[in-house]
Amino acid sequence: MTDNKIKEYIYFDHSATTPVLPEVAEVMNNCFLKYFGNPSEPHMPGRQAKKILEDSRHEIASALGASDSEIIFTGSGTESDNMAIFGAADANSKKGNHIIITAVEHPAVAMPCKMLQKKGFKVTYLPVDRYGMIDPSDVKKSITNKTILVSVMHANNIVGTIQPVEEVGKLLKGTNIIFHIDAVQTFCNIKTDVNSLGADLLSVSGHKIYGPKGVGALYIRKKTRIKPFIFGGGQEKGWRSSTENIAGIAGFAKAASIGSKDMKSRAEHLTAMRQYLKKGILETIDGVAFNGHPEKRLPGNCNFSFNFVEGEAMVLRLDAAGIAVSSGSACSSSSTKPSHTLVAMGITPQDAFGSLRITLGYENTYGQVDYFLGSLKKIIMDLRRISPLKKG
Ligand code: PLP
Repeated sequence: MTDNKIKEYIYFDHSATTPVLPEVAEVMNNCFLKYFGNPSEPHMPGRQAKKILEDSRHEIASALGASDSEIIFTGSGTESDNMAIFGAADANSKKGNHIIITAVEHPAVAMPCKMLQKKGFKVTYLPVDRYGMIDPSDVKKSITNKTILVSVMHANNIVGTIQPVEEVGKLLKGTNIIFHIDAVQTFCNIKTDVNSLGADLLSVSGHKIYGPKGVGALYIRKKTRIKPFIFGGGQEKGWRSSTENIAGIAGFAKAASIGSKDMKSRAEHLTAMRQYLKKGILETIDGVAFNGHPEKRLPGNCNFSFNFVEGEAMVLRLDAAGIAVSSGSACSSSSTKPSHTLVAMGITPQDAFGSLRITLGYENTYGQVDYFLGSLKKIIMDLRRISPLKKG
């Protein structure tokens, strides 16, 4: 399968974002050029836009196993997460002030919780094991009579570990504690059925599934007590005022429809290619550790720590060789702190700094993986030769 003559730029950073599918771009282009109406207006352009909006809602609802009326479009996965946390806290503060999240949540969940802590809320951060996984019995042990919300990400954006969210959902069933799942990394990658997961709230985002950036959705199970936090013209039945981003929403829905249909075949291809890549690295490079769960992980995610090299240096050298990978998550890779996910897993700061996240997409090929393996080996040997971290 070796093809060391690859000249095109290789994109292996699909957990940061994905390219927009041509079918998605076409749908969006049609909205920009033809269906530009404001869906709140009763005239024909408005009605056309409204139909696209409602058809798109139906598409997202179907992909999540939800009813159309339970889907609210938002401006991003971050906004969906913020709405879930702030909205649930605001609506239930009279009942209690205790929130449970994991130590490895995305900042879109962790930061709103930090803000709430400043306002008097108590937050329990569930520990994770060396694979980055929580123990559902810790959720049970952490619940108090003041607990109003539990938020657990479906899969981690750094190491790809899939959390036992179904078990958490089961143990919260019948309580009046709201269960939020950040499914931004799993939507269209693995099954995200709101009923089998037991979610009351669930966040998804367009640009992780070959759709556009700047659009997301929040699933709100009927009768879940949450409050809106963007006010204005009362769009989205008052849940989220703002004239709807019709082109973005239509593109998101198209990507979700293709993604749900192709999920199984994409996952099979990604899992096999990931295993091939993992084997290639572990067999040809020494001083390397594989991070995250060996099996319960996102199909396309691989994460490694390499001794005596800096993740940032590897990213820059690989970029120069025509390959995009990540040394952390896009939202925090400018930070000089080691990834909080890796630290929570008990990985030393040095190994955390030496980590590389490779997230494959369904359009990637084995030839690209071979080219990557060859380039990475050379880069690591070179970096280790000049590394001040390597003694002797
Ligand atoms: N949650 C997770 C797990 C993510 O990986 C991301 C993005 O990386 C987000 C939330 C934020 O989504 P968005 O980029 O749409 O704001």
